[in-house]
Amino acid sequence: MLMVMRTRITSQPVAAGRSCIRPLGWLLLLFAAFHSLPAADKDILSGLSPGLPEVRQLRQEIAANLKSTARGNGLAVPLRIWRYTVGAERNFFVIMARLSQDADTLVSLNQLQNPNALVKGQTLYVPNARGLFRPLIESTVQLGQKSNALGVVRRTDGIHFHFLPGIRMPLAEMRYFRGEGFQRPLQSGAGRISSSFGYRQDPLQHQRTFHGGLDLAAPTGTAVYATRAGTVVRAEANRHGYGNLIVLKHEYGYTSWYGHLQSWQVRIGQKVQAGQLIGRVGSTGKSTGPHLHFEIRKAGVRQNPAGLVHQ
Ligand SMILES: [Zn+2]
Repeated sequence: MLMVMRTRITSQPVAAGRSCIRPLGWLLLLFAAFHSLPAADKDILSGLSPGLPEVRQLRQEIAANLKSTARGNGLAVPLRIWRYTVGAERNFFVIMARLSQDADTLVSLNQLQNPNALVKGQTLYVPNARGLFRPLIESTVQLGQKSNALGVVRRTDGIHFHFLPGIRMPLAEMRYFRGEGFQRPLQSGAGRISSSFGYRQDPLQHQRTFHGGLDLAAPTGTAVYATRAGTVVRAEANRHGYGNLIVLKHEYGYTSWYGHLQSWQVRIGQKVQAGQLIGRVGSTGKSTGPHLHFEIRKAGVRQNPAGLVHQ
């Protein structure tokens, strides 16, 4: 069982009361914390076959909870989060269908960026109810729903989520997962990918470094467009690193970054539309030739733009 009500944790030190028994209180807290951890061999799906007892049980519980939440009641079966180790199939939609789950639930609980992001050996968390999971840090913003959160749940890796049973993901947010969130920063046909997202041999430092964006080589002065509607949060000249840089802020915690620009056409605080001209390709900052360094970040973490941008 992964369900941890927040009050259960926080009530322990308070109950300790007098200072002489405080260590006991902490011990109880520690015990409570460990006690809530699921047993290693429990809650694991050994496969996707509907013949497996745990898969059958999971599907039955999802159906029961779906019926119950659709009627406006709480969960019929207490929340339980199973773990599935992604196999060679790595197909998000196959796994989703076999386990009778939906994209909203799996995407939000696993914080998936796109359907092709699954890798073999990855742990996929599969709850026995459908709904929206919000990481605790984000839970206060952009929920867009009434606070009918059932409670706080904890994944086995320690990340806490608010669970909103029966709530669907806003369509605009689901678009990011489908790769419809952003458009190309250069006109179609313009620019050639000179460096992709991931580890590479650094052209300047001659060592393996992580490249957190997409490099599009294009002639100096090539128009750069906003990849999605947003607000300009940075428009600045750097002599190092990114060079002349624009950063746009979008909804659901996303930002897009445009580096090494020759010039920019926007100012901080300005609202821009998708496809609006914001700057021009250059070679400012740490750059070996005219190109656009394009990044997408979610909650500050750099994502692979290839899976998020449609052509
Ligand atoms: Zn780059």
